[in-house]
Amino acid sequence: MSCSLLDCGTVEERDFEMADYEGSVARWCPGCGDHAVLSSVQRVLADERLAPEQTVFVSGIGCSSRFPHYLNTYGFHGIHGRALPLSLGVKMRRPDLHVFVVMGDGDCASIGAGHWIHAIRYNFNVTVLMLDNNIYGLTKKQTSPTTPEHYVTNTQPQGSYLRPMDPTSVVLGMAGASFVAQTADWIPAHLLATMKAAQAHEGLSFIRIFQRCPKWTPDIFDAKVKAPHEIEVLGHEDGINDPKVTKMYKNHREHDPSDLDAARALTGPSELTRIGLFYHNPEQPIYDELRRSRSFTTEEKLAELEKEFDRYAI
Ligand code: SF4
Repeated sequence: MSCSLLDCGTVEERDFEMADYEGSVARWCPGCGDHAVLSSVQRVLADERLAPEQTVFVSGIGCSSRFPHYLNTYGFHGIHGRALPLSLGVKMRRPDLHVFVVMGDGDCASIGAGHWIHAIRYNFNVTVLMLDNNIYGLTKKQTSPTTPEHYVTNTQPQGSYLRPMDPTSVVLGMAGASFVAQTADWIPAHLLATMKAAQAHEGLSFIRIFQRCPKWTPDIFDAKVKAPHEIEVLGHEDGINDPKVTKMYKNHREHDPSDLDAARALTGPSELTRIGLFYHNPEQPIYDELRRSRSFTTEEKLAELEKEFDRYAI
């Protein structure tokens, strides 16, 4: 039996195990942070009872963009930098689906930058995971927009020329931002809590995940893992709170995620790596809902077509 594209959403609620979401065996390097993110994603899907047949992962190109292959959900492994417009297409036609987008720092902030800033402005209903390892890993250590200044790469062997972009700062600068958070692959409790909060948010949730790349940027991320005193946890009753994380890290900052100016002030160069919910505005208009509410219904479209055909009837 066929169904209309917009009325397939009635799915029997059932329980799932993490194993229900396992796709092919992940072929990332041993120790790559992508493995930890994949496990957390499977945990979120199972805990939130998101049926595999109602869930879609969309990606572009890069190591992390292998995600759709490793999950037993629907998936779309797109082209470089184009994951966000593809995800909007999915969401426009199938608002009942849970849509996730996985991008790396190059895919999102360089090749896909035009799509990225407009996706933030549109605030359509998807969960965006930006896995930031500070390098193009798949193409073997090329400078990306988040590579630290002076960092030696294969494209800039004398050291990266420019200061890095702060993706969180860019997102917070866009009208339309509605959920902006940072977390790290090696802090599983925080990663899980952040992804659950993002998935529950209506609108575009953007999570920058600091991601270990033991192959090309081990010195950057090993140092972060070994220096818990350089992590600062943002906490608030409306933020992301996990008692285990609060205990593990001594640097805490009270930050009200409804305060956009305060959120912006927390971005940019700092000795500290900040994790937590920077900004949350559940009142921000949602593009796909606005557009659907202002479009013709299927019946109206058919009636208009009939009218047009009648004009040519003899
Ligand atoms: Fe992971 Fe880096 Fe290996 Fe890519 S190159 S799979 S990001 S460790």
